[in-house]
Amino acid sequence: MAEKLVIIGSGPAGWTAAIYAARANLQPLVFAGRPKTSPSLLLPGGQLMLTTEVENFPGFPHGVTGPKLMAFMEQQAVRFGARIRTDDGRTPDVSDPDDGHSFRYHDCKAVDLSCRPFKVIDEDDTVVEAHALIIATGATANWLGIPGEQRLATSGGGVSACAVCDGALPAFRNKELGVVGGGDSAVEEATYLTKFASKVYIIHRRDQLRASRIMQQRAMDNPKIEILWNKVPVEVLGEKQIEGVRLKDTKTGDVSVRPLGGLFMAIGHTPATAFLGGQLELDEKKYIRLADPYRSMTSVEGVFAAGDVVDSVYRQAITAAGMGCKAALDAERWLAERGIH
Ligand SMILES: Cc1cc2nc3c(=O)[nH]c(=O)nc-3n(C[C@H](O)[C@H](O)[C@H](O)COP(=O)(O)OP(=O)(O)OC[C@H]3O[C@@H](n4cnc5c(N)ncnc54)[C@H](O)[C@@H]3O)c2cc1C
Repeated sequence: MAEKLVIIGSGPAGWTAAIYAARANLQPLVFAGRPKTSPSLLLPGGQLMLTTEVENFPGFPHGVTGPKLMAFMEQQAVRFGARIRTDDGRTPDVSDPDDGHSFRYHDCKAVDLSCRPFKVIDEDDTVVEAHALIIATGATANWLGIPGEQRLATSGGGVSACAVCDGALPAFRNKELGVVGGGDSAVEEATYLTKFASKVYIIHRRDQLRASRIMQQRAMDNPKIEILWNKVPVEVLGEKQIEGVRLKDTKTGDVSVRPLGGLFMAIGHTPATAFLGGQLELDEKKYIRLADPYRSMTSVEGVFAAGDVVDSVYRQAITAAGMGCKAALDAERWLAERGIH
């Protein structure tokens, strides 16, 4: 029998959609997805599994760790009847912190949106049918893949892919920080970080920024920003906390060390839309294009989308959660109009 609603993704958007859909009695089935933010992670939960302190999610006056926040969201969804797709079909006992580790979580390999009900195909080629779908597969920040980077990113050691999320943390105050990239977001992140840092270096591999002219001017005019031209980081230095980066000059090949108290990646994001196989309309950056920007409907009726997979602008947990709520409400109404409750 077809599922009423399948939710693909277990970040803030997916779990919020699951909470709303479960409370509406739709017993949603969640494809939580294989952990992929870091090879060392065992549990799904999206990008926040990669961060330590989350200080800007409302309701946590003293902050909360990313994995804890995601566990809370999952518990809340399961409490109301959301089910999670795992290798043995059993929903993990979310009150037991170790239970989830013994499961293999399924990624959705492909979807077939040309038929009704829709088909969702998992990694074992099992097909799950669903009357409605919410795509909440997020996006992954691009990393350099250099030694020291992931170790210090996952341990709160001062390497991050989100200046707006982490820049205000006490660890970065009055420090010299680095931002890797040369586009608008690199300049935006660097400018934001100057509120807290003593100095911000934009580390760029070319001799010209890719950022728009107005953003370039903003970087040049800011006395706290200095651009390190023709440089790429080749190693992040420091045991528990970042101490600096080893830089290679892209023109001369010379290697130097720049002491830093924090390093922020601003080299783009990749939305997780490849598995859709071109069946949903995407924008030029491969994010899902919504049929109406204020709602969650996509180019295919009955398929809704939420979170970072549709949003290359805000990319925050709270905005993703808000969109997850909208998608669940839209899906519920759409199903009810077709007599599916
Ligand atoms: C280092 C870092 C720190 C951050 N800190 C903060 C912060 O402090 N505050 C804040 O508000 N935001 C923060 N963010 C941003 C925040 O994490 C994202 O905006 C938010 O997680 C987006 O939620 P989402 O549900 O849309 O997607 P994601 O969190 O990306 O979750 C997507 C989910 O979809 C799953 N998935 C993907 N493809 C498939 C597939 N084919 N099949 C099944 N599942 C799939 C993934 O496994 C994952 O579970 C941070 C981001 C990073 C990288």
